Formats: sequence, structure tokens, C-alpha cells
Amino acid sequence: MSSEQNRELQDLLKQAREYVDYFRELGAETIDSETATPAFAPTSAESSPPAREAAPPGVSSSPAVTAKPLFARRPVEPAASASQNLFGIEPTTASSMPQSAETLEEIWRDIGECTRCGLCSGRTQVVNTHGNHKARLMFVGEAPGADEDVQGKPFVGRAGQLLTKMIEAMGMKREDVIIGNVNRCRPPGNRQPTLEEAAICRPFLFREIATVRPEVIVVMGNTALRNLLEIKAGISSVRGRFHDYHGIPVMPTFHPAYLLRDPSKKRETWEDLKKVMERLDRTSM
Ligand code: URA
Repeated sequence: MSSEQNRELQDLLKQAREYVDYFRELGAETIDSETATPAFAPTSAESSPPAREAAPPGVSSSPAVTAKPLFARRPVEPAASASQNLFGIEPTTASSMPQSAETLEEIWRDIGECTRCGLCSGRTQVVNTHGNHKARLMFVGEAPGADEDVQGKPFVGRAGQLLTKMIEAMGMKREDVIIGNVNRCRPPGNRQPTLEEAAICRPFLFREIATVRPEVIVVMGNTALRNLLEIKAGISSVRGRFHDYHGIPVMPTFHPAYLLRDPSKKRETWEDLKKVMERLDRTSM
């Protein structure tokens, strides 16, 4: 074997080890050697069937998620019905989200070198939403951190690397999805944006959503949850169930930065992401 082949083999082994380690951290018990899909033991909240096949509330059970193409655009299905929505938010249909005529570039031009709130004084640059303009799946976080502030892209630091792993575990690449934040400027010391700062910045996110019209949105952490859904409850009590944003199903889950502090929550996050995969799978037939 040549030294180049040897290096390639070492790289492949390293990647395989990382893949296995990641699913082990998520709580996988075995990985099918042919399909490379992980199998999980049922959580205490689940009886049979296995976690991988558990359907979201109100959705009939569907087969385990397979590697279907996740990129073809399809009409959005209505989100959970009112009876499944603990917060009294009336689910609407996809048609209630008007198709915006503006492009993301036009929105970003409007944002410009924004000085609409005080966060502008401490930032290096505005960090706009980034990714596939025709994405079926959107992730929304809180605000840029130090790495994002320097690089000008959301989720490129440690939390971002974990988010990339989560996206890849879902069978996608970062380039397939679109990733944004409620606020576009780094708050000093990485504090949470104030209610006022969030209220000033989030209309741009809403406009981006109306332009992209993703089929599913994942809100990560309380800031994204409360600004998109106007829910006062915390992420722990609302995660794992689809909510509604103008006809777009929204899955709340833990923020990757929180998962770095408490890796035991990765397992629940993976359960949430599986429901997202199922939802996308059901609309890509
Ligand atoms: N945390 C966020 O909420 N957003 C980022 O872009 C990075 C870290």
C-alpha cells in the first residue's frame, strides 16, 4: 500500500470513528453495518416501537427514516392541529405564509451596516442568515458569538461545529439547509439579546422566512423559540412537538451551545431531529 493510500485509509478510519462516537454520545446502542443507521434503546417515556420509529404527536407512525433526497421542494403540510397545540396558537396552512417577492440579497441590502439598536457598537460585522436560498429546512439560533462576529457567518464556532454534526447525522450537508439567528450582531460578552434588541432585529428573519419558505424550521433555544412562536414556556417543556409559524411546522429543540454544556441532552435533541426528518420525508415522495 502506498503512503497516500495509507493516509486515505487513516482518514476514512478517523471519519468512521467520529461518526460512531457521535451516535454513541447520542445514545445509540448499535449501528447497522449495511445501512449505517443507528439504533436506540427506548427511552423511559417510550414503550415499543423503538425510538427511531416513534411518530410526532398526532402523526401516524411512519417507517424508519431512510436516506431519501431531502432537497426537492414540495407543498408544506399543515402543522399540528389546534387540539395538539398546548399554547392555543391556531395552526394555519402553508397558504397563510405569503410568498415574498423580495430576495435575500434585497433584505440584506436593507439591513446594510445596521445601527437600529445598540448592539451595533460592539460588533465587528453584521452576521446575516447563511445557506441554501431554496432550503427545505431552516435552523434558527439566538445571536452571533465571537467566532461568528469575526467570520461573518452564523454558527461557525464550537456550537456551530456541533450543529454541523447534527445536520450531517440527519443525512444532509450544511449547504443543503439555511441557518440564521434572531439577532445579527454579537451581544457584548455573549449575553442574551434584550427583548427590545430582539424585537428590532427579528422582522428581518421573518422576511427571510417569507422569501425562503422552508418546509420545516428548527428553533434552537429559548430566544429563537420565544421570538418566532411568542411562547413564554421554556424549551424543555415545548421541545419534541411541532408548533406552527404561519403554516410552517416549527420544531423547538435545545441550542447546541447548551448541548456542549450538558451532553446528556443530545439524546432528546436527536429525537426531535428525527421527527423533523420524518416530516421532510413525508413531503418528499
Ligand atoms: N449561537 C447562536 O445562537 N448563533 C450563532 O450564530 C452562534 C452561536
